[in-house]
Amino acid sequence: MTKTIRATCAHDCPDMCSLLVEVDGDRILKIQGDPEEPFTDGFACAKVNRDHEVVHSPMRVKTPLRRTGPKGSGRFEPITWDAALDEIETRWKAIIKQHGPEALLGYCYSSHQGQINRHLPNGFFHALGTSRLIAGTVCDSCVDVAWDLTLGGVGCADPDTIDESELIVIWGCDVKSVNVHLWQKIERRQRAGVKVVMIDPHRNRTAQGADWHLPINVGTDAALAIGIVHVLVRDGKTDEAYLAKHTLGWEQWKREVIAKFPPARVAEITGLPVADIERLAAMYGATKKSFLRIGWGMTRVLRGGQAMRAVAVLPAVTGAYGVRGGGAMSVTAGSMGFNFAPVRKPSGPAQARQVNHSRLGEALLTLKDPPIQALFIASNNPAVTNPDIQAVRKGLSREDLFTVVHDPVMTDTARYADIVLPATTYLETSDFFRGYGTYYMQFSPVAVAPQGEAWSNVRLAQELARRMGLTDEVFRLPPEKIFPKFFEGATGVVARIDPKRLLDHRAIKVAPEGVGQAFGTPSGKLEIYSEALARQGLPPMPVGEPDPRELEDAKRWPLRLLTTPGYFQAHTAYVGSEFLRKREGEPLCVLHPNDAAKRGLHAGDKVRLFNDRGEAGLVLKVSDEIREGVALVPGQRPEAETVHGGINNLCSDALTDIGAQATYQSTFLDVEKWSGPARVAAAE
Ligand code: SF4
Repeated sequence: MTKTIRATCAHDCPDMCSLLVEVDGDRILKIQGDPEEPFTDGFACAKVNRDHEVVHSPMRVKTPLRRTGPKGSGRFEPITWDAALDEIETRWKAIIKQHGPEALLGYCYSSHQGQINRHLPNGFFHALGTSRLIAGTVCDSCVDVAWDLTLGGVGCADPDTIDESELIVIWGCDVKSVNVHLWQKIERRQRAGVKVVMIDPHRNRTAQGADWHLPINVGTDAALAIGIVHVLVRDGKTDEAYLAKHTLGWEQWKREVIAKFPPARVAEITGLPVADIERLAAMYGATKKSFLRIGWGMTRVLRGGQAMRAVAVLPAVTGAYGVRGGGAMSVTAGSMGFNFAPVRKPSGPAQARQVNHSRLGEALLTLKDPPIQALFIASNNPAVTNPDIQAVRKGLSREDLFTVVHDPVMTDTARYADIVLPATTYLETSDFFRGYGTYYMQFSPVAVAPQGEAWSNVRLAQELARRMGLTDEVFRLPPEKIFPKFFEGATGVVARIDPKRLLDHRAIKVAPEGVGQAFGTPSGKLEIYSEALARQGLPPMPVGEPDPRELEDAKRWPLRLLTTPGYFQAHTAYVGSEFLRKREGEPLCVLHPNDAAKRGLHAGDKVRLFNDRGEAGLVLKVSDEIREGVALVPGQRPEAETVHGGINNLCSDALTDIGAQATYQSTFLDVEKWSGPARVAAAE
C-alpha cells in the first residue's frame, strides 16, 4: 500500500524545496517536487530526484561500529547501540573528570538536516560546557559577517520579486546548479526580454544560459564592483538622494577609494576589457529594477570581506535597494526572526573555549590546557571538505583522541573514528525547516522508518544528554513539540504566525513586509563606512586592491585554484547514489587548452596538482570554459574516487579578512602529469 508524504528537502541548498515522497512500507519509491508549493513549482533538482537511492544505498552504515584497525584504515566490527553508548559515556565522563569539559569538542554542521537535527547536538555540547564550535567558517561566515556589517542582521531581496526586475546580474553563483528554482524564474524573465548578465571566472551552465558572460579573474570582484561605481559616478548615474538618506560614508568612499579605480586600472586587475566594464556599468545604471544575485565563492579569498561588502553596496549606488524588483539576494534568513536559542543554547556556561570550524586540524594538534581528548562529528566530513586536510587527518590520527562519528555512510572522516554510529537521512526523521534562499518555512514529518539501526541526530543527542545528566526540557521533547519554541520570543512576521499551522506539513511564506531593503546596522543605514571595522583596524570602507600574500604566491605559482560545486556531486552527501556518482564522472581538473599545451598534457591524462602544501591526483579535462591561469576543480569527492588525495591538500587554513572563513580560492599551484602511485589512502 503506497502513500504520499509531504516533506522538505534538507540538503544544504537555498531553495528548501517542498517534496512529495511516495512510500511503500519502509521503502521510498519516488521523490518529486510538490506542484502545490509555489517556489518549488513541481520539480526537485537532478540530485534529489535520486535521493531514494541515497536513503536505500548499500553504502549506508547499518549498525554501530568499533574500530579494529589503525585510525584511517576503515577497519571496524559491528557492536550494539548499548555497547557503543556505554563506551562513549564512560570515556567522556573520565575525560571530563580528568581534564574538564573543554577537552570535548562537538563538531556538528548542516548536511542533510533541518533546524532541530542540525542544532540539537551542538545544543547538547553547549549545555555540557565543552569547547564550542564556531560553525560555518568552512562555508559562509564571511558572507554573513560582511553582509551584517554593511546592511545589518537582515535578510535580502525576496527571490519572488525577480518577477518585476528589468535587469538580472548573477555575480559568482552557478544558479543553474545550486539555486535551480531561482534559475527557472530567471529564464521566465529572460523570455520576457529581460537581460541576464553573469559575472564568473567559469563559463558554467548558468553562464551559458545568460545573455552575457564576463569571465572575471578569480578574486577580483571588489575591484570590478568599485570600478562600476567609478563609471556610475563619472556618468552621473548615481541616486544621490537615496545615498544621502540611506547610506553612511558615501562621500568619503567616492573621494578616497572610488576615484582610484578608473576602468583602465579595473581592467588590469579583473582581466576584463575596458569596453565591457563601461557597458556593464551603463546597463546597471540604466534601471533601478536590477536584481543582483550574489554568490558566496567570491568570499573564499583572503579579502573576501571586501568583495562581499563592495558588491553589496552596488544596489545602494543606483537606489535599487529602494524598489521592488531591485536590490540584492544573498541570504534571506536574517529577516526571519526565529528564536533558536532553546535548541542551540538550552543551558551551559556563558563562556567556553571556541574552535574555528575550518581549523580543526590546528585545534586537534596544538590546543592545550586542556588538549582536545574527545571529538564528536555529525553532518560533516572534515577529512575531505576542510582546508589543510593533512593537518585534519594528522589530528584525527592521534591515538589519544577518542573520536565518534555519526553519519549515514562510511565517510573519509568516519574511517578515523573509534566509534561510528549510523545516522538517519532527513527523510527518516521529522524536522523544522526555514529557507536561506527563500522566505518559506515548513515542518516535515518522518517519510520512512530509519534504515537499519540508524538514529536521528535528535534521538542521539537526547540519549547522550540523559546519560550525561542534562535535564533541559528540549532533551525530552519530540521535534513536533520543539519547533513551536522557535516562535516564542520570535520577531517580525514570524512572531505573528501560529506554529500549529505548520502541522499540516505545508510551506508558509514569511517574507518581510513593505517595499525596499531594510537596514539593521547601528546607524540604521547601509554602512559603506563601518565604525566596527575601523575599530578592528580593518579598512572601514570596501577596497579593491588584491591581498599582498596572493600577489606573492602568484609570482611563484602559474595557476590559481577555482573550486566549484559538482552538478551531480555538489559535495560528499550524495555519494550514496551510484547513479549520481556515474553522472558526475571522474574527479576532474579543468585547464585551458593553452595551459595544457604548455605542460604537454592531454584530456584524460592523470595529473598531479601541487604546491608547497601538498598534492592531489585528478583526471584532466581541457576546455576554454575557464581562462588561462586557472585550475578548475568541480565538486568534492571522497579520496577513494580520486587518483590520489583530495584537492584541499593544497589549501591553507588562512582565514578571510572578515568573518574568519576558509580561503580555498586563495590557493596557487601548478599541474604536471601524474607519475606517482594511484589511490594511496593517507593513513595507510
Ligand atoms: S534544488 Fe535544492 S532544495 Fe530543491 S530538491 Fe534540489 S537540493 Fe533540495
